[in-house]
Amino acid sequence: MAGFPIEPSGRIKTLPPYLFAAIDEMKQKAIARGVDIINLGIGDPDLPTPAPIVEQMRQAVGNPKHHQYPSYEGMLSFRQAVADWYKRRFNVTLNPAYEVLTLIGSKEGIGHVPLAFVDAGDVVLVPSPGYPVYPVGTSFAGGTPYMMPLTKAHHYLPDLRAIPKDVARKAKLMFLNYPNNPTSATAGPDFFKRVVEFASEHRIIVCHDAAYSEIYYDDRRPPSFLEADGAKDVGVEFHSLSKTFNMTGWRIGFAVGNKQVLAGLGKVKSNLDSGAFQAVQEAGITALRHGDTLADGIRAVYQERRDALLPGLKRVGLEVEPLHAAFYVWVTVPKGFTSASFTAHLLEKAGIVTTPGNGFGEAGEGYIRMTLCTPKKRLLEAVSRMEKAGL
Ligand SMILES: *Cc1c(COP(=O)(O)O)cnc(C)c1O
Repeated sequence: MAGFPIEPSGRIKTLPPYLFAAIDEMKQKAIARGVDIINLGIGDPDLPTPAPIVEQMRQAVGNPKHHQYPSYEGMLSFRQAVADWYKRRFNVTLNPAYEVLTLIGSKEGIGHVPLAFVDAGDVVLVPSPGYPVYPVGTSFAGGTPYMMPLTKAHHYLPDLRAIPKDVARKAKLMFLNYPNNPTSATAGPDFFKRVVEFASEHRIIVCHDAAYSEIYYDDRRPPSFLEADGAKDVGVEFHSLSKTFNMTGWRIGFAVGNKQVLAGLGKVKSNLDSGAFQAVQEAGITALRHGDTLADGIRAVYQERRDALLPGLKRVGLEVEPLHAAFYVWVTVPKGFTSASFTAHLLEKAGIVTTPGNGFGEAGEGYIRMTLCTPKKRLLEAVSRMEKAGL
């Protein structure tokens, strides 16, 4: 039998180059040399899922009624728990029957939503730097991402007035993400109000990614996009239990808001997946109904880490953005470095892995991202290594 060249599709071939390949290779080499690596590159909580959630899962997994296909839109009891949590946390009223959709992690919904609304030639407004799923999901659906730069001068909020009229006209959808990955910036109610106005004027569907709304500091609780008047008329909010409850491996999230947008996303889902494992949804109900004190504990850990790392970074002379939410430290690279060269420098001189900012889009050039997903002791060790290396 003759083999033949297996050709990937155009959409795979046109994926942006994997910018972290070089740093991954350097990291592997350093590990092979026996360097004790401090990994400030990963955006994945290092702490375990709280015990009551695990215990609920243990019980639910033994129940045969959870062993069959779930409904694609999620269990009504889970969606009700989401609606109750939104009411309690944000004072936003949601009808669980059609304003809440269970997701297999929020990445799943974010990646799929363009398939429901974007056709070839449609533009999708995407923040840069930003979560790579926004432009990739757009391209997979045949759309064209238009990058909205997030700059320090603009508090890492997109300048909606800078979007050209013809781009706004062709735009079908807009992704936003606050608290933000990778800059940790937050958005206030006034910004969300402007987004609703802009979206209504240009008929753009807003997809707000609120994965980090529960990772905040100093009791400054970030708002929901849906708190803005009229938000439900123009868009949806994506949410996840991944970061709030250290549940990244469980794959459970949800989308809430505009019922037509959710129906469209649901249509895609009902044709591509078969819903989230019901036992995981049961564990999610426990998290949403009884998890407030668990989340308090998780926030306290990050706050302690932040308060250890940030003053240290400033002492070694690095310029860092203030950190009010999420667990990312957005660091300006010192003069004479690029994102890539400073990432390499930290690894070579101090055994510290970070992420080059340009990996999140061109507007991230000139920055690196550090994460707080490492114990405080290691963060302090990282600072002392930087001091010794004379950074
Ligand atoms: C981690 C993260 C998510 C959450 O992904 P899940 O699929 O819910 O685990 C979503 N958006 C951003 C920006 C993230 O960093």
